[in-house]
Amino acid sequence: CGIFGVVNDEKASHTLLKGLKALEYRGYDSAGIATLQKGNISCRRAPGKLVNLESMIRDWPLSGATGIAHTRWATHGKPTELNAHPHRATNVAVVHNGIIENADDLREQLKASGVRFFSETDTEVLPHLIALYLTQCDDPIEAVRYAMNDVQGTFALAIIIKGVDDQIIATRRGSPLVVGFNSDSAFIASDMVATSGLADEILYLEEDDIALVKADGVDITDYDGFVVDRKKVKVDYDQ
Ligand code: GLU
Repeated sequence: CGIFGVVNDEKASHTLLKGLKALEYRGYDSAGIATLQKGNISCRRAPGKLVNLESMIRDWPLSGATGIAHTRWATHGKPTELNAHPHRATNVAVVHNGIIENADDLREQLKASGVRFFSETDTEVLPHLIALYLTQCDDPIEAVRYAMNDVQGTFALAIIIKGVDDQIIATRRGSPLVVGFNSDSAFIASDMVATSGLADEILYLEEDDIALVKADGVDITDYDGFVVDRKKVKVDYDQ
């Protein structure tokens, strides 16, 4: 299980696959990516090895300069295409490492309010929950914060939202996430190995951070909405 994301890279789908390759060592049973293209979210997912996703994307390319990617290690639901991440509501796509412990309760509540589910995963409650809060508030970070206050468990998440162009929202509780930058683009990854050769500065997110990752910087708040400051450091990958 690995998460990777890129903001403002013309070859985003290529870079996303490269990031996933670097995270291959973490083990996985399926993989997928989603990009924001011309204001819409497009998704490709494939069970099995990364080559399956690579050949799918070769046949059916994905444009867009900002996107998220995932290698899955199934905890809830078989390693099928339908259960592969990203999971989405119409306007939100999410990749997730970890386990949402109260997913069954949340799923029942969301179903009662008319949401249809397509997978057996615990993850799928997340895009729907965020989409629901987006109908109640204008601010995407606030919607994610509300959703995070509803969920229990361990997670690292990367989220893209239709209309929130050229940005990724990332948050973590119990699973690592690093944010990286070069002069043009920003990256997020489960492990710094995946930003090697791409980012020359990084920062680590801490527990309960919500980061709005943009090409030229990051705004970080905690789950109560307070601004927090995480220092960027220059990286030397040889060490
Ligand atoms: N619990 C999620 C699932 O089964 C995420 C697993 C992972 O960390 O890859 O889909």
